Amino acid sequence: MSARKSVARARAGASSPVDPAGYAELRPSAGRLASPRARAPRDVTFPCLRCGRPVRRRPPAGPRPVHITCPRCRYLIYDYPRPAAGVLVTKGDAVLLLRRAHAPRIGFLDIPGGFMEAGESIVGAARRELREETGLRLGRLEWLGFYWDTYTLSGFGEFPTMNFYFVGTWTRGTPVAADDAAEAEWVPLARLARERRHFAWAHMPAVFRDLRRWRQGRDATPSRA
Ligand SMILES: [Zn+2]
Repeated sequence: MSARKSVARARAGASSPVDPAGYAELRPSAGRLASPRARAPRDVTFPCLRCGRPVRRRPPAGPRPVHITCPRCRYLIYDYPRPAAGVLVTKGDAVLLLRRAHAPRIGFLDIPGGFMEAGESIVGAARRELREETGLRLGRLEWLGFYWDTYTLSGFGEFPTMNFYFVGTWTRGTPVAADDAAEAEWVPLARLARERRHFAWAHMPAVFRDLRRWRQGRDATPSRA
């Protein structure tokens, strides 16, 4: 998931009342599966959007939904998960992955994708992120799956992400890494298991498992009746 560009846009619209922490430094939790260095989020405080009083946010400790309420003016913030969308581009036996250009997770492997913006469809966000990060435009996309993960936002703490993926087949064009991506590379599916410790996000092994199933299902289906 590449957050930085969405971060830049969010910063440009920093007056939005739904963005009290500013998305200024969107950090991953360093995915527990992918990195043993992940640390538990700590209590964080940020100024109340309405009155400026420091508001304490604690990571959710149980199943109860978390609401953040200003102790002075009672301004209420719902602690929602954030949706993100991406595309698995396949070419023969390989899938297109990106090397992250920036911290966090610099140099780690990433899937073209990023956070959705208000007003976008899920597939529209996935196409936009693919275009911005690789220059590629694909025709038909198929639904692959949905995956939970976790990010940590500096000044806000850890929150859940909902990651939606589509899969499509490359037809033309050379992917050119841009934005969050330093490099774009076609990685053979057979090599993915060995690259696991280089994955940027904890949910990526499940995505690639489902990608292999998708390919097996496609290969098993006659292309014409
Ligand atoms: Zn307040």
